[in-house]
Amino acid sequence: MHLKSMTLAELTTLFKDMGEPGFRAKQVYTWLHKGVRTYDGMTNLPQTLRQKLAQEHPIRPPEAVRKQESQRDGTIKYLWQLSDGNCVETVLMRYEYGNTVCISTEVGCRMGCAFCASTLGGLVRRLEPFEMLDQVLFTQIDSGLPISRIVLMGIGEPLDNFDNVLRFLELVNSPEGMNISMRHISLSTCGLVPKIDALAERKLQIALAISLHGPNDEIRDKIMPVNKAYPMDQLLAACRRYFEATSRRIHFEYAMIDGVNDREQDARELLRRLKGLPAHFNLIPLNHVEESPLKPSSRKAVARFQQILEEGGITATVRRTLGGDIDASCGQLRRKYTKGQ
Ligand code: SAH
Repeated sequence: MHLKSMTLAELTTLFKDMGEPGFRAKQVYTWLHKGVRTYDGMTNLPQTLRQKLAQEHPIRPPEAVRKQESQRDGTIKYLWQLSDGNCVETVLMRYEYGNTVCISTEVGCRMGCAFCASTLGGLVRRLEPFEMLDQVLFTQIDSGLPISRIVLMGIGEPLDNFDNVLRFLELVNSPEGMNISMRHISLSTCGLVPKIDALAERKLQIALAISLHGPNDEIRDKIMPVNKAYPMDQLLAACRRYFEATSRRIHFEYAMIDGVNDREQDARELLRRLKGLPAHFNLIPLNHVEESPLKPSSRKAVARFQQILEEGGITATVRRTLGGDIDASCGQLRRKYTKGQ
């Protein structure tokens, strides 16, 4: 395992096995979580140890192969090249309540949602815990902007990379590391029911977001293959169990697609099915993905949908689109850059 994927306790054990005192592990852990790029940067370590670590545990930080900044809202998108040559994107959004980084959890995605660019080439591989941490770390270092919030809403399905994602959460939350509060982290899933239950068991204080995008199986089946494995009744039952376990209300993401899921009756059906479940809706007018024929709903349809939900007692916001001019919005991230820039 990469040193930066290890918890402080694991690193301490490793160092003891190497015949090094425990405090060295803490020194190294702190340096790694500050984003040093080489062991030579670890100035309080003896030269011999630095050399040994460099040989046995190379750091291999990602390279920013492209950086784009939105002229409209200051959103920054990075394309990182990982040590094996694969690339993933990360987006930094500047909100009033804090800078938020949207990270990728996999190289590609195998979920196959019809409207999403991240799944077009399928899944290449899952990210290691340190590769998720590095996105947060090096986005903060490169931009010079302190990051206080994380959303796992970039490329990939976080719950399809469950163990690595949970380990990443532990790392980024650690007091000796970036120390980002679980309450400032959101994880989004397209609906892998057994993994939602497994997450509920951990009782973390992160926010769970569900990519719902439809009020029933008929509509969800058409645009989200995952629904065939875990139909909506099962998904909503898992959401209820998650709420019981964590007392955290569920966030539902709902990409509004013209003529597909945006009718008034769809909003009413949602109200019926979600009865009694504390929920918040994020309505996202569909973002453009070149390869997809689907179109966003009209502003009027979005406003009407929001109104029906609100009248039924579910809070609903229309997600402000950030980074639209640099293809950094929901569903637009890719593992490769294909437009030749
Ligand atoms: N795989 C996880 C994490 C991705 S989060 C998940 O599905 O939740 C990215 C969010 O953007 C998801 O809610 C996804 O459904 C949504 N999305 C994908 N393509 C979109 C598009 N073209 N327009 C708007 N939202 C989109």
